[in-house]
Amino acid sequence: MPVRAYAAQSPTSPLAPHPIERRTPLATDVEIDILYCGVCHSDLHFARNEWGFTQYPVVPGHEILGRVAKVGAKVGRFKVGDLAAVGCMVDSCRTCGSCRQGLEQFCATGATFTYNGEDKHLGGLTYGGYSERVVVDEAFTLRVPGNLDPAAAAPLLCAGITTWSPLRHWKAGPGRKVGINGLGGLGHMGVKFARALGAQVVLLTTSPSKVADGIRLGAHEVVLSKDPDAMAKHAMSFDLIVDTVSADHSLDALMALLRLDGVMCMVGVPPTPQQLAAMSVIMPRRILTGSLIGGIRETQEMLDFCGTHGIACDVEKIRMDQINDAYERMLRSDVRYRFVIDMASLGK
Ligand code: NAP
Ligand code: ZN
Ligand code: ZN
Repeated sequence: MPVRAYAAQSPTSPLAPHPIERRTPLATDVEIDILYCGVCHSDLHFARNEWGFTQYPVVPGHEILGRVAKVGAKVGRFKVGDLAAVGCMVDSCRTCGSCRQGLEQFCATGATFTYNGEDKHLGGLTYGGYSERVVVDEAFTLRVPGNLDPAAAAPLLCAGITTWSPLRHWKAGPGRKVGINGLGGLGHMGVKFARALGAQVVLLTTSPSKVADGIRLGAHEVVLSKDPDAMAKHAMSFDLIVDTVSADHSLDALMALLRLDGVMCMVGVPPTPQQLAAMSVIMPRRILTGSLIGGIRETQEMLDFCGTHGIACDVEKIRMDQINDAYERMLRSDVRYRFVIDMASLGK
């Protein structure tokens, strides 16, 4: 079926209307009319080929929330009219060790990502949520708590799970001092989740204009990461730092904040390699690691937690035709704290 969408055709061309095809729902598929799609910094990295493996045309968008329009005959968990969501993956092998553990993002044969993956049904590429409709297997479709504002819930599908997963894995909670580096889409959810999990939360930011928001969002303290004196006061005191920064920055300056056996988890993906002095991990025995989104089961747990605790994202709604401007604003760190495309604007 033909579907309206927005795509980039090359690293330098702005996103523009580009019709795509979606499959007719199969027995286990859910067809979703997209209401909102969040704008992740990864969308920008992809559209501009900043990581070097983009295939064109690319229709970005992996923070998808909408209403079920059709279900296949074997679909059990969704009915027409339900809210439903799709994150960064639409399929995986479902049989390897990672998939059986609910870690589909690390599928041994490679998960099928929501966009710029291999479309196993139609051939060619998968296309993301900057579009009016999507068809996804029910196993990769998430339930959305009814008490959350749908626009504010959409970015939970990437910004939410990507911060939730390392915070849970590295046991953010009472008695633990947790730093979130960067207050953008991921970072603002990291602050909210770390606080909700009971940790002592410190926001590290380069933006003096975000200090008050950091406190409002749940940080106990905000440190300006470009101020060496302010950073020195926190030396060797953190149990965990989740680093969400999307551009070049000093890893050594962050590592210096960790205590013995403290963990720094990278989730931001700067396009160029970052340097690290060996001494930063050697003394005192620190851990540098990373994390990729989260599995389907964990994503549902995160959504349910958000429903129970009334947690969602701080969003600014935009029209589809404002996407190129939104990318420029994201590069200037001028987003409070996630752009969400109102997909009704696509038809206009
Ligand atoms: P975003 O909204 O643009 O936020 C990034 C934040 O990083 C900015 O708000 C800014 O925060 C800080 N920052 C930007 N440039 C900086 C610089 N030169 N030095 C220091 N800080 C800087 O982006 P996002 O959507 O949250 O995504 C963040 C990164 O995570 C991207 O690289 C994205 O691709 C990646 N990502 C990874 C995963 C995963 O699974 N690992 C999933 C989603 C996204 P302050 O103003 O507070 O300093
Ligand atoms: Zn993302
Ligand atoms: Zn697998």
